[in-house]
Amino acid sequence: MPELPEVETIVADLRPHLVGRTIERCELSFPTIVRHPEPEQFVDAVAGAGIESVRRRGKFILLGLAPPSAPSARSGRPPGGPKRSGEELPPHHEWGGAHPFLVVHLGMTGQLRLIDALTPLEKHTHAVFFLDDGRQLRYRDPRRFGRLLLGTEEALLSSKKMPVLGPEPIDPDFAADELYRRLRKRRSALKAVLLDQGAIAGVGNIYADESLYRARLRPSRIANTVSKRSARRLHESLRESLELAIANRGSSVDTFRDAWGEAGAQQEKLLVYGRAGEPCFTCGRPLSVIRIAGRTTVFCRRCQR
Ligand SMILES: [Zn+2]
Repeated sequence: MPELPEVETIVADLRPHLVGRTIERCELSFPTIVRHPEPEQFVDAVAGAGIESVRRRGKFILLGLAPPSAPSARSGRPPGGPKRSGEELPPHHEWGGAHPFLVVHLGMTGQLRLIDALTPLEKHTHAVFFLDDGRQLRYRDPRRFGRLLLGTEEALLSSKKMPVLGPEPIDPDFAADELYRRLRKRRSALKAVLLDQGAIAGVGNIYADESLYRARLRPSRIANTVSKRSARRLHESLRESLELAIANRGSSVDTFRDAWGEAGAQQEKLLVYGRAGEPCFTCGRPLSVIRIAGRTTVFCRRCQR
């Protein structure tokens, strides 16, 4: 499943190519991949919309859209060019003045790729966004656990289409004390807290195991028993694991591909994830495997306490 580093890789790839472009139209071949609003409304609303921003929040990809009626969306001016002169039109009535986001969650096997229009459609391509430069943004998802959403941040949160997410672990403003404060409030296993998107955003099974190993903390350890010093170590380990993975363009342990269809390289460098029974890189003992929060969890009994 794509986690923070994998989603960050896609977002960073797409941003310079998408900002300033216009979505001319959208075709859905599996309409229920759209979870909000109704697929027909979704298709109507994105047609003609300009893309103003591309960012990541947790494991979500957010394309900030300009309403079709705004001059910046219609004129197709290049990014950085003159935008929004004094003739700005009133906002699109259906969007109530606030700009919406086209939200993509990749689920287990989702792939969001920017592709030349001549490239044949791959199987399991559920949505195609036709861009004004002739290219296509294609959403492909064999297992269909992913989803597409459209709405303002406020509307998606209040309708519970998007969860309330915890802080971004790689945000410079996210302090070790904040992590400690959050751990103190939880009586569940450390691993379960790391997987909880409301506690910390973007961490999944791979980077929870990796950062707990780096921090020498046992995944089953109850979160509120962790000392301030250990919380600091975990804070640092989380950043190290995530930033290293971003630098290596993500882990392709399964179907993850970047926006160009290429695999990442971090899977070659993982310390514990997927290595149950293999020797610990620190002490040489075989790594153990347990299940926590329904997820396979690999750790070293000697090195992690
Ligand atoms: Zn060990």
